[in-house]
Amino acid sequence: MKRRPFIKKLIQSTGGIYLASQSPLLYGCNLEPKNKKLGIALVGLGGYAGGQLAPALLETEHCYLAGIVTGTKEKESIWVNKYNIKKENIYNYDNFDSIAANDDIDIVYVVLPNSMHAEFTIRAAKAGKHVICEKPMAVSVEECENMIAACKEAKKMLSIGYRLHFDPFHDEVMRIGQNKVYGNMNVESEFSFLLKNPDSWRTQKALAGGGPLMDLGIYAIQGSIYSFGELPTSLWAKNTTKDTEFFKDIEGSLEWELTFPSGKSYCKTSYETPIFAELKHITEKGEVKLENAFYYGGIKGSTPDGNMNIKPVNQQASQMDAFALNILNNTESIVPGEMGLRDNYIIEKIYDSAANNSEVLELNDIPNILDIRRA
Ligand code: NAD
Repeated sequence: MKRRPFIKKLIQSTGGIYLASQSPLLYGCNLEPKNKKLGIALVGLGGYAGGQLAPALLETEHCYLAGIVTGTKEKESIWVNKYNIKKENIYNYDNFDSIAANDDIDIVYVVLPNSMHAEFTIRAAKAGKHVICEKPMAVSVEECENMIAACKEAKKMLSIGYRLHFDPFHDEVMRIGQNKVYGNMNVESEFSFLLKNPDSWRTQKALAGGGPLMDLGIYAIQGSIYSFGELPTSLWAKNTTKDTEFFKDIEGSLEWELTFPSGKSYCKTSYETPIFAELKHITEKGEVKLENAFYYGGIKGSTPDGNMNIKPVNQQASQMDAFALNILNNTESIVPGEMGLRDNYIIEKIYDSAANNSEVLELNDIPNILDIRRA
């Protein structure tokens, strides 16, 4: 009940449907000088920050790795040497708020366990920084609302780390699905991998907020929405966890079905099966398929007409450059906080349905934001 007024306000304030677009912002942000390369500070130097984001920031044109925020002292010298970071641009979780006085840092990128996203996004906004927050945006809709409000209050932009909106294979899938190039369709999608480490924060609800749905299944939700270019109207879900001993705190596996105005999407996610990622349109004229669909690279695409001939890009570099350009040009992110809120809303409904014998739930108050193609 608490969230409804906010969502209603979001819809009303944007005149019905909220279409993420490159139009000028509805609320004024402080403009940066156009020739400036924006400084990014990564918060949380784990697998994704170290393995993907920092290397991508060596390839970006409009932003660079200017600072780090870490709770592990030993990582500081490693990162300073590897990425040539100024000593005064190193922060820990306690002194993070003093980043407000640092003009080298324009954007804070939150890459922490999911339950820490809200706190650090809000602190970053209060420190006067634009924010990229990793997916899932937060562990509840209420947290998402607070994060959006904090960024609006500070007149700072908020974007979610949805890298696939900047991948040309996914752009092509959006084009094909949204234009019904091969006629009417249903969608099938799965993202799963085998999680073996019982001590990982990903297995702890207090840190992860949920299981593979929050971590991986969110890609299948997104893929379904941008394939149809429509919002789902109802859903049902089923917890299909096999090893209930190992997965005590979170689900190990989950399946769900989303109903859209023009078709259905059947999705799966799991921490109990070998790695697998697929996004498929079952159309009147055959299959449109992305194999390795949600990986950082190695995506293969095919349609009833043959293989997609698409040159891969560095998804993270494209995503971060696009956000830097949003700030420099005062245009809206195509993956704003409102989209993260929408996806957390769907996630909550999926958990509700799974907990209630797969009850079909109407999505009457879904935040009205649709994905658009980058091109
Ligand atoms: P990770 O475990 O490799 O790194 C987490 C980081 O947070 C570590 O540096 C750790 O020291 C720090 N941390 C701070 N407090 C912590 C605590 N209480 N418990 C555990 N770690 C703590 O995780 P990751 O894979 O880098 O994921 C981080 C975030 O990035 C998650 O929100 C995840 O969903 C997201 N992610 C996104 C993508 C993507 O493709 N967009 C890929 C991987 C991860």
